[in-house]
Amino acid sequence: METVEMICELFIGGEWVREASTGRTFEVENPANGETLATLPDAGEEEAKKAIDAAAKAQPAWARKTAQERAAIMREAVRLMHEKREHLARVMTLEQGKPLLESRGEIAYAASFLEWFAEEGKRVYGRTVPASSPEKRILVIKRPVGVTAAITPWNFPSAMITRKLGPALAAGCAMVIKPSELTPLSALELARIFQEAGLPEGVLSVVCGSDPVPITRAIMEDRRVRKLSFTGSTEVGKLLMKQAADTMKRLSLELGGHAPFIVFEDADIEAAVEGALASKMRNMGQTCVCANRIFVQRDIAEEFSRRLTERVAAMKIGNGLEEGVTVGPLIEPAAVEKVERHVEDAREKGARVVLGGERVENGKGNFYAPTVLLDVDDTMLVAREETFGPVAAIMPFDTEEEVIRRANDTVYGLAAYYYTRDVGRVIRLAEGLEYGIIGANDGMPSTAQAPFGGLKESGFGREGGSEGIEEYLDVKYLSLGGVGEPS
Ligand code: NAD
Repeated sequence: METVEMICELFIGGEWVREASTGRTFEVENPANGETLATLPDAGEEEAKKAIDAAAKAQPAWARKTAQERAAIMREAVRLMHEKREHLARVMTLEQGKPLLESRGEIAYAASFLEWFAEEGKRVYGRTVPASSPEKRILVIKRPVGVTAAITPWNFPSAMITRKLGPALAAGCAMVIKPSELTPLSALELARIFQEAGLPEGVLSVVCGSDPVPITRAIMEDRRVRKLSFTGSTEVGKLLMKQAADTMKRLSLELGGHAPFIVFEDADIEAAVEGALASKMRNMGQTCVCANRIFVQRDIAEEFSRRLTERVAAMKIGNGLEEGVTVGPLIEPAAVEKVERHVEDAREKGARVVLGGERVENGKGNFYAPTVLLDVDDTMLVAREETFGPVAAIMPFDTEEEVIRRANDTVYGLAAYYYTRDVGRVIRLAEGLEYGIIGANDGMPSTAQAPFGGLKESGFGREGGSEGIEEYLDVKYLSLGGVGEPS
């Protein structure tokens, strides 16, 4: 087996740190075989404070730079990401498990946010507003919010960081990042890239630890941190929202989802199968936007299910580094247990398991077979909670009105998909579905150019698009009196 070099140090205030104040270390495991990939210093409150100190020190000079100067550094980071794509993809597959092809895709996707926001930073316009008095002028200006923090999940170890770091840097904000304890290595690779690209010391720190609580506490209690962007579960998002109240931090919360994927009888079935496969099975079903409930209109349910099952059956399960593998391991044993629980519950309540439905024993890897369930109903766990695994749950429906009601019957509101050739229906559903991201005849709507984010308990705030940078800008207005009238 080839060796891939891993970074085993924290990045704080421009320095690589080999020992944590806790005196402890923690291990990063490969989910495909349980092997230890790296041993890292186990950061705590002290490291987080040092990172915030460094960010606060670096902040004014970074904010004073022109957008062009900031963009030049960001573009260099993009260049380096493309140059090192193969290495970065391997590190990602090793720590996260996704097939190498997907990791390569994520590196390009992650870089696209830096590229997009490097340019958006040049377009942070203000406004002049007609005043109520001829003596006055009103100017609206935008300023960086100041020091920011990001807390990110393990499912997209690189892209969930650049979606936050890109707009923060472009707006003129320093950022302290706390990546998931399960996938810190990709985050450290990004730190090295930015160091090489010439990012000034302290503008970016990456603080990794096995326990998120002390690191997060230091971030949440510090008044200098003016904004937190969090991607992760709704449960932790709610906790952080409460903690943010004491210092009135601005928040972006990108939380859980429970996407409906609706196929109408007038749809292009092949395209719908393709879309469902991409939405459901990418990253082994461990994405916040992945189809959790596949609603299929009754007349075509059998044909759609047969074609989808054929495609899922052809997927190759194994270590993501191996050629041809399209389904890797789940992130940890607890993730496999959750999928098992959902499938068992569906089976007990009358669903038919037409494919998979069991663990795959493969050494110490966390593998679960890609699964197709038929006759799923709204009472089953798969229809109510995020499964976060490779389980396609197919639910028949009869009418448009019924499916909109059932699709909206959840606390989540992140992504929804539907396939139809009826233009009026495309619009009716876009308006009727209570979701922030809508894929009409599109199973992969995420892109740097568009505002990504949820409604309801999937959170608030947007990443990407022209909206993404606003999350890192304060609006001020200047009312200038005594100007006089134009002569
Ligand atoms: P998680 O909430 O367990 O962890 C996310 C981050 O929060 C990690 O860095 C973790 O260390 C930290 N964390 C955990 N407990 C904490 C606590 N008590 N206090 C402070 N920080 C804490 O989520 P996860 O399992 O890493 O990720 C999966 C979840 O993320 C799913 O619910 C998924 O839908 C969601 N997600 C959402 C989006 C989106 O854009 N909306 C994108 C990807 C993932």
